Amino acid sequence: MPVLNVSNALSRPVGVIGSGLGGLAAACTLAARGHRVVLFEKNPWLGGKAAQHEADGFRFDMGPTILTVPSVLERIFAEAGERMDAHLDLKRIDPQWRCFFEDGSVLDLDQDAVAMAQRLRTFSPKSEAGYAEFLAMSEKLHEVSRKFFFWRSVEDIGDTLDFKKNMDLDTLKDVLSLRMGSTVAREIRKRVPDKRVSQMLDHFVQYVGSSPYLAPAVLCSIAHMQTQEGVWYPMGGTRAVPEALTALAERLGVDIRTETGIARIDREDGRPDGRACGVVTEAGERIALSAVVSNMDSVRTYRELIGGDTGKRFTRRKREPACSGVVLYLGLDRAYPHLAHHDFVFSRDAKEEFDYIYEKGEPAPDPTCYIAAPSRTEPGVAPEGGEALYILVHAPYLRPHHDWKAMLPAYRQVIFDKLARTAGLTDLQSRIRTERVLTPADIHERYRVLDGAIYGLASHGRFMGAFKPGNRSREVEGLYLAGGAAHPGPGMPMVMMSGWIAADSLDQDMRSNSGMTLAQRSA
Ligand SMILES: Cc1cc2nc3c(=O)[nH]c(=O)nc-3n(C[C@H](O)[C@H](O)[C@H](O)COP(=O)(O)OP(=O)(O)OC[C@H]3O[C@@H](n4cnc5c(N)ncnc54)[C@H](O)[C@@H]3O)c2cc1C
Repeated sequence: MPVLNVSNALSRPVGVIGSGLGGLAAACTLAARGHRVVLFEKNPWLGGKAAQHEADGFRFDMGPTILTVPSVLERIFAEAGERMDAHLDLKRIDPQWRCFFEDGSVLDLDQDAVAMAQRLRTFSPKSEAGYAEFLAMSEKLHEVSRKFFFWRSVEDIGDTLDFKKNMDLDTLKDVLSLRMGSTVAREIRKRVPDKRVSQMLDHFVQYVGSSPYLAPAVLCSIAHMQTQEGVWYPMGGTRAVPEALTALAERLGVDIRTETGIARIDREDGRPDGRACGVVTEAGERIALSAVVSNMDSVRTYRELIGGDTGKRFTRRKREPACSGVVLYLGLDRAYPHLAHHDFVFSRDAKEEFDYIYEKGEPAPDPTCYIAAPSRTEPGVAPEGGEALYILVHAPYLRPHHDWKAMLPAYRQVIFDKLARTAGLTDLQSRIRTERVLTPADIHERYRVLDGAIYGLASHGRFMGAFKPGNRSREVEGLYLAGGAAHPGPGMPMVMMSGWIAADSLDQDMRSNSGMTLAQRSA
């Protein structure tokens, strides 16, 4: 393996390509550890999918709306010796979700497991015990994930377990608890007979844009992550998160360059096995760097920025994009008080819906619609008496024959019909004062993702579905990956953790290569 040229590396900054939450977390962590950091973002705004749209007195978060596991964000601030709550005002949302079902019934998901069990006693007595069992399993799986999977670069099972050294009885029990070979849907249905309750539990894996029928059982852990730390709303909208991280990056001296797309990653001496040693911008500027963190989709990083045989080798392995989505941002002249902050309007048949999106690759004829009504928590998002509704419907990642310009009008009507039928929003269309729509094709262009995917790579595969490309590249020395298409996966907390892991791996490699600490270097 080529040896790092220490003197070169130390005189150059570290580069971060992309300012999604993963890129921002990486930039802040690196800068907090004493590295000089340059952050390149092709768009005029920072934060990637965590963008915001304002029109006619209405304000909408455009991407993520549900913030879970805030302890990850706390850890990024702690790297810089700062407290997250000094910069973000987070409000707890409880009930976490309101669920509307096709048969007209409504179920709230309480944060407190005891309160939820009591609610189920009336709603679906047969599901009460099974729900408690499901949560206990979820807690165990979360514990195992924390032990083997989180806060370090993992690419495959060999990175998590050392079979020769660590195979004691406890580890064996942990491995068995992972229920390898089983799926999320199967584990839920073994315990919860009511199809409404099981459909609600299925939707935890929608945070990672994957089918519960194809996702490995270990992803049942997501339920406990949400129950344990809660669901939060940052006042000012989810957008407040990248804004707080940008301000932190600025305080730490990160050199931020917006409207600077990166076209290529340079390799040392131009050798195909050379270390990543710089980038070339789309405008043709060459910038020398000591190492590179890419927050661009991992497959596109290898295909477009690395290229050559290395790029081909990486992309030869089949990596399936997660789902995409259609998002409607509706500014309305009335409010719908029966909605909670977060609402799911469920499809008539979970299996049929997931088959359409994830197996057939076509929009579901009767989809689940997620609604965010943030004026429940922050009335200022809409003019008085109005409502700023965000409606997200998961759709398949882009296939060559998908022409969303042609498909949108009919599918928009499918969504409005569903909302009228199952959630009582019968006059919704006539109350619209402002409207904007994002289709999978728009998402593909805006965020430069893989085939319009909103959650990076799918977590499909009963045995290995949870594994993603590791944060420390095995193919290119000096290259690190952060974001939804890298370990540990998508969703706000996970991408911020991935940014932290990429930064930590880079920092550790530099320290061990240079044989001195950063403090010693600057002394
Ligand atoms: C509609 C929608 C709803 C969602 N809902 C939720 C939710 O409720 N809760 C949740 O936790 N998660 C949710 N997510 C997922 C979450 O938003 C993402 O997982 C996360 O924000 C992605 O962060 P990332 O670090 O992968 O980067 P991204 O946000 O994908 O940003 C990557 C950045 O890199 C830039 N870039 C790419 N290539 C280059 C290049 N070559 N040069 C320079 N810049 C480049 C892009 O412009 C972009 O700004 C949602 C996503 C969407 C789209």
